[in-house]
Amino acid sequence: MTAQEPDDLLLRLRRFRSDYFPRHQQRFQDLVAEGQHPKTLFIGCSDSRLMPYLLTGTGPGELFIIRNVGAFVPPCDGSHGLHGTVAAIEFALLELKVERIVVCGHSHCGAIRAAYEGVADEAVALKSWLRLADEALLPVRPSPAALRRSEQRAVVLQLERLMAYPMVRSRVERNALTLHGWHYVIEEGEVHVFDAQAGDFLPASLASNAGTGPYQPYVEHDGSIL
Ligand SMILES: [Zn+2]
Repeated sequence: MTAQEPDDLLLRLRRFRSDYFPRHQQRFQDLVAEGQHPKTLFIGCSDSRLMPYLLTGTGPGELFIIRNVGAFVPPCDGSHGLHGTVAAIEFALLELKVERIVVCGHSHCGAIRAAYEGVADEAVALKSWLRLADEALLPVRPSPAALRRSEQRAVVLQLERLMAYPMVRSRVERNALTLHGWHYVIEEGEVHVFDAQAGDFLPASLASNAGTGPYQPYVEHDGSIL
């Protein structure tokens, strides 16, 4: 890279300004004049292959997004730490008044794999963060099937954690908010949505809704509640 050859990222910034922005200028200006009013809070894994806007066909102003390793929600334990995820959930509910929360995990999730296999000792924060997946892990060797199941269980676990927050529960109970659990299968281009009635994840191509809400406790096929 030299001063004469702008790097690829800079070229992409210029392309946004010259190609995309002119076609959507009015939309951006309206969003500034009127403010943002997204209806959906999207909590997704940081994985680069998960593309919330592409999956949902949305554009500027439509999704309020939280991304973190694993798409995890810390438990409501009164610790009130410097927690970006919980702060963003509060902002979405109390300031933006979103009507839906989507928790979106995905296939081949490095967070779930790392929760089984461990991470470098140096990754102190990551190690403690990954403990948020513990309850979703199965007491088996992490086969591809076990990893897939754990990814899905982790999504449902986050829905349960969300329901433990009084600001979430009260809105769900008065039908002002719905919770949706999704598992995106990268190689199939298919989002599987959690259907609480069926107790399972159904491909969006076959499902009758985008995940059932209000959320109800998930009962595993063997009758145990996750
Ligand atoms: Zn992931």
